[in-house]
Amino acid sequence: MLNKIPFVDLSYQHNPLENEFKTAINSVIYRGDFVLGQAVTEFEAAFSSVSGVSYGVGVASGTEGIAMGLQACGIGQNDEVIVPSNTFIATIIGILKAGAKPILVDCDLETALIDLSAINQVITNKTKAILPVHLYGQMVSPTELLNLAKKHNLLIFEDAAQAHLAHRDNYIAGSVGIASAFSFYPSKNLGAFGNGGMVLTNSEKIAQQVKTLRNYGAPQKYLHTELGTNSRLDSIQAAILNVKLPHLTNWNNLRNKAGKFYDLGLQELENNGIIPLKNLANEGHVYHLYVIRITENCPLTRDELQNKLAQTGIQTGIHYPLPCHLQPAYKFLGYHKGNFPNAELLSEQILSLPMYPGLEESQIEFVVKTIKSLVTK
Ligand SMILES: *Cc1c(COP(=O)(O)O)cnc(C)c1O
Repeated sequence: MLNKIPFVDLSYQHNPLENEFKTAINSVIYRGDFVLGQAVTEFEAAFSSVSGVSYGVGVASGTEGIAMGLQACGIGQNDEVIVPSNTFIATIIGILKAGAKPILVDCDLETALIDLSAINQVITNKTKAILPVHLYGQMVSPTELLNLAKKHNLLIFEDAAQAHLAHRDNYIAGSVGIASAFSFYPSKNLGAFGNGGMVLTNSEKIAQQVKTLRNYGAPQKYLHTELGTNSRLDSIQAAILNVKLPHLTNWNNLRNKAGKFYDLGLQELENNGIIPLKNLANEGHVYHLYVIRITENCPLTRDELQNKLAQTGIQTGIHYPLPCHLQPAYKFLGYHKGNFPNAELLSEQILSLPMYPGLEESQIEFVVKTIKSLVTK
């Protein structure tokens, strides 16, 4: 197809670095330190440093980072953790793996971020933490989070899996709470060549505890003080991430620019029911995804628009089509349809447009022009 635009294309990031990747992988092979090797230590230091946090602990995935990170913060059995329903299911899995109970809340319609005003109503004497998700690359307001946590004496644990180096109110993602978790799944803003994750924290004690948990619960070899697991970031993945990290700010800036260019182009379609999610973080939004809402004023449904775009060669996605509280496996949490109207409405309205560093303005113009031709009569 002439104007085929993929949803994600990693070649712009990867092609120029091909030789560096090979050198980095070869040096791991040469050293033979495949597990918890030099590349992991280097990447832990580098990523925590750019994020403005003292300690980084490399783990096998973002999911495991949430699970072990919460555990290391002393959150588990009989503790409640407040979390938005409109997140990727891994957030909920992490809380449950830590042994804690996820208490779901709704989101804001304009940003899709956790509705902090809903937290008051769900706080009990078991509530230990708020787990904000910096969804789509936009941070939940650090100022509001910190005020709320202070007021109710709660911990903040950030799910920053979509928000590497995002910033807002002079805070960098992952530096707001007691600890935070990141994912390096290949399509994330900073992606490995497989799975990977990290826990960031300013507490030496928490960092040490995650190190113990990820390594069979052993603070030293063959001494098992915790019921740990095997969940480490591979040296090969860390080597790849070390090559990519110096480019992250530039890639994020390109995403931010593309986001603003979309916003500008789509502005005139507001009366036709096309409403982009709001960017309240300005330059600090790292647009892991660029998400629009197809509202009742649009002559097409979201699914019709998505299909028509696909026919034109424009790939899109839906993140996510079913909120966590309505997922079959999570019925036992006791929620049902109607509990979180904004999350439910968004799941029917949202559409993620192509977004990646290297997406050209001419391509964005083509996407906007195509949407315009479909929704205007
Ligand atoms: C990707 C993602 C995770 C999980 O990360 P994995 O590395 O895939 O386990 C958690 N939360 C959010 C919001 C994510 O987007």
